[in-house]
Amino acid sequence: MSLTGKVALVTGSTSGIGLGIARALARDGVDLMLTGFGDVDEIAQIQSELIREFSVRVLHDGSDLSVPHHVSAVVAATQAELGSLDILVNNAGTQFVAPVRDFPDDRWEAIISLNLSATFYAMKAAIPSMVSNGWGRIINIASAHGLVASANKVAYVAAKHGVVGATKVAALELANDGVTVNAVCPGWVLTPLVERQLVDRATATGRDVAAEAELLLAEKQPMHRFTTTESIGEMVIFLCSEAADTITGAALSIDGGWTSQ
Ligand code: NAD
Repeated sequence: MSLTGKVALVTGSTSGIGLGIARALARDGVDLMLTGFGDVDEIAQIQSELIREFSVRVLHDGSDLSVPHHVSAVVAATQAELGSLDILVNNAGTQFVAPVRDFPDDRWEAIISLNLSATFYAMKAAIPSMVSNGWGRIINIASAHGLVASANKVAYVAAKHGVVGATKVAALELANDGVTVNAVCPGWVLTPLVERQLVDRATATGRDVAAEAELLLAEKQPMHRFTTTESIGEMVIFLCSEAADTITGAALSIDGGWTSQ
C-alpha cells in the first residue's frame, strides 16, 4: 500500500521529532499540514525544502495548540485546504522541571493543555472523516514518561500517561472502522526540548553539556545513545503501513531499554 496522496497533520513539526516524522511522510508522498512556532523564514525554508525534495504539498499553521478551538480549527483547515485528513500525528509538547510542591500552576495548565488536551481535541475533530473514509491512522507521540515516572516532571508524566490512556480508548472505539490509534513512547531524543534540559543541568552542576548528555542517558537508558528523529519517522511510516493494520491501542517503546527495567 502506498501512502502517496494521503494527507497528514503533524503537530509540532517545525522542530525535533515532529519535523523528522514530517520528512519521512513527505518522502513517502504524503501531503502535509505542519504546525508549530519558530522563525518565519526558517519555517518557510522547511516548507520549500520539503516541496522541492519530495514534490508534495506542504502548508503551515502557527497557532497555539494549547487553546482548544485552535486545535479543531487546524484539523478543519487541513481538511479544507488539503482535501482530507488521513494521518494525524499528535506530537506538539513542552516540558517543565520542578518538584510538585514548587511546580508553577501556570506550567501545569500549559503542559496539560498542549501535551494532553490538544491530543483529545485533535482526535475528536479528526475521527468522523476517518471513519467515513474507512481508513485512518492516529499516532500520538507519548514518551517513556507515558509508562514510567521521573521525579520533577509531574505535569509531563501525568500528561503522557493520559495520552497513553486516551490512545487505548480511541483504539477500542475505532477497532472495526479501519482506523488504528497508537502511542509511540520514545526515550531520549536529542532535540531542542532535551537540549534545553541539558543546558539547565550544565548550568546547575558546572559540567559541560556533553558530559551532562552522557549522564542523562546513563541515568535512564541501558543503551547509552539517543534515538534519532529519523528512527521515529520510520516507526510512524510502519504504523501507517498495511503490515500494521492490526496494531492498535499499543504503546510502542523506542527507548534504548529504558522501560524494560
Ligand atoms: P521540540 O521542542 O523540538 O519540538 C516541539 C514542537 O512543538 C515545536 O514544533 C514547537 O514549535 C511546537 N510547540 C510548542 N509549543 C506549542 C504550542 N503551544 N502550540 C503549538 N505548537 C507548539 O520537542 P521534541 O523533543 O521534538 O518533542 C516532540 C514530542 O516528543 C513532544 O510531545 C515530547 O514530549 C515528545 N518526546 C520527546 C522526547 C525527547 O527526548 N526529545 C522523548 C519522548 C517524547
